[in-house]
Amino acid sequence: MHDYHAHSAYSDGGHLGRMLDAAAAAGLDGVGFTDHCSVTRDPHWRRQRDRYARTFDLTYERRRAAVERLRAEYDVAIHDGVEVDYEPDPAAEERIESFLADAGFEYAIGSVHYVGEHTVFSFEDFSTAGTPDPDAVVADYYDAVVSLLESELFDVAGHLDVVEAHPQLAGRRTDEQVRRVADAVAASRTVPEINAKRAERDDGPAFHPTGELFEALLDRGVAFTVGTDAHSPEAYDGRVDALTRRCERHGVDPVSPLDAAD
Ligand SMILES: [Zn+2]
Ligand SMILES: [Zn+2]
Repeated sequence: MHDYHAHSAYSDGGHLGRMLDAAAAAGLDGVGFTDHCSVTRDPHWRRQRDRYARTFDLTYERRRAAVERLRAEYDVAIHDGVEVDYEPDPAAEERIESFLADAGFEYAIGSVHYVGEHTVFSFEDFSTAGTPDPDAVVADYYDAVVSLLESELFDVAGHLDVVEAHPQLAGRRTDEQVRRVADAVAASRTVPEINAKRAERDDGPAFHPTGELFEALLDRGVAFTVGTDAHSPEAYDGRVDALTRRCERHGVDPVSPLDAAD
């Protein structure tokens, strides 16, 4: 098995060597490093780039050179990928498209990590005064995911329903939102991933996509890739096993995003 979603110290993950040692120990045949990258011009998120380590557009050539050297030392295949923050905006799409064309990664994951000025991760609190209504956040999130799929900018759609891991956002999506996302996946060249970033946790879902969205995608016979979304070497062991079991249980034969890449 290859893992097509992992983070190194070129964004907010572990050192390349430690990640590769752990990946090899977990029995992986290959690892795709997909460090975080934002090419936003949104003033709010522009200011947050350093805080959230999303400046891989400035450093990807250094990681590529490091990967080139490390390939000789490891039996594990190393793939040169990226995870790009997606914003549903034509100007933002143009910037992403030209960045990806210039940078020439082997493949790209696109992910919706924020809506308006709020991330969709669990440290964000939607219960205080002045924060948006959680139902509106969920609706905007899935609108952005559909837009990402329709943009055809990416090889992989990252953690399709990550809002389901947020205690205040989970369980709010409508059947219509689920159907729209599943139809958009089926119509897109962009492949969703089975993302195991929460596999070792016992609060909330262990995998994305979750529940009825995962079922709707299985019903439509779409292809999946797989990603541990590991940010540290310790994440590998359990997540690789969990992904293997998940795929076996649902008859998923993961595809490689490198096959789909242009
Ligand atoms: Zn992500
Ligand atoms: Zn990630």
